Amino acid sequence: MKACLFCSSTRYRPFAYPAITYNGKRFQYLQCKDCKLVFIDPLPNADDLQKMFPPEYHPEGGEVEIRTYYHDQVRIIKEHSTLTNIADFGCGPGHFLSFLEKQCKGLTLTGIEYTQRMVDQLKQQKPGMSFITYEDFQKNTTPQYDIIRLSHVFIHLTDPVAGLRNIVNQLKPGGLLMVDGPIERNFTFGRWMMDIYFFLRKNMGGKFETDYPPYLVTQTNRSNQKKILEQTGFSPIQWRVFDGRWPFPESLKSAHPVHVTKYILGSMSLLLSKMVPGFGKFFLWTGKKPI
Ligand SMILES: [Zn+2]
Repeated sequence: MKACLFCSSTRYRPFAYPAITYNGKRFQYLQCKDCKLVFIDPLPNADDLQKMFPPEYHPEGGEVEIRTYYHDQVRIIKEHSTLTNIADFGCGPGHFLSFLEKQCKGLTLTGIEYTQRMVDQLKQQKPGMSFITYEDFQKNTTPQYDIIRLSHVFIHLTDPVAGLRNIVNQLKPGGLLMVDGPIERNFTFGRWMMDIYFFLRKNMGGKFETDYPPYLVTQTNRSNQKKILEQTGFSPIQWRVFDGRWPFPESLKSAHPVHVTKYILGSMSLLLSKMVPGFGKFFLWTGKKPI
């Protein structure tokens, strides 16, 4: 029987998002009636995941993209100068690892990625660091890292509770777990607008389906996201909710009325999130493992 991926409840309802047809299968989102988590059904299997996350998923080379919250995370790493063995779980093209390497000397850096192809590619590109597959990481169960970071990864875990347990087991006592990513179901003005749009499409426009890959296994809000992280028993060091422009345009590139409207909606959402604590579609959390 299907159960909520966070709280194991078997009480759920179909969620308002369109059904997805991908890799010859039909996926739909369900919402847990107890913890309000939105999760995909069925779960993507190994074949679906390999198709969804080929090395091309992360564009090669180019400028290292520095996201604003990298600075927050590097500051915390600098404040804990005895913690030097750092793993980036789901490191993508290694942007954060490269940024960190430039900011702090003497660190041992490991990147973990899903496919062997991606790992081989990263090993060639960044010879000063180690790279292993998710499968190899999972095989180890002893504490070996001082800091493990999961950036925009939690949403893709098909068993978030077991995944988190395995990650926690690989941290040394006093080590840090850093997690960040989207909280898709948290309130923002933009979210509210999107929900109205989905509701109208689903209820008035006949069949509403998509072939967009089911990337998001779970969609959280700030409460259930914080709660699942606190279940690790770690003492919290950082918790921040903030907003971003996505899926609205980053800049006013054209004068087309639809583009301008979307840009204004994005600006209103950002402004409201700055004014109301708890509004926002991203979170940053860091916790310390008990000694
Ligand atoms: Zn639940």
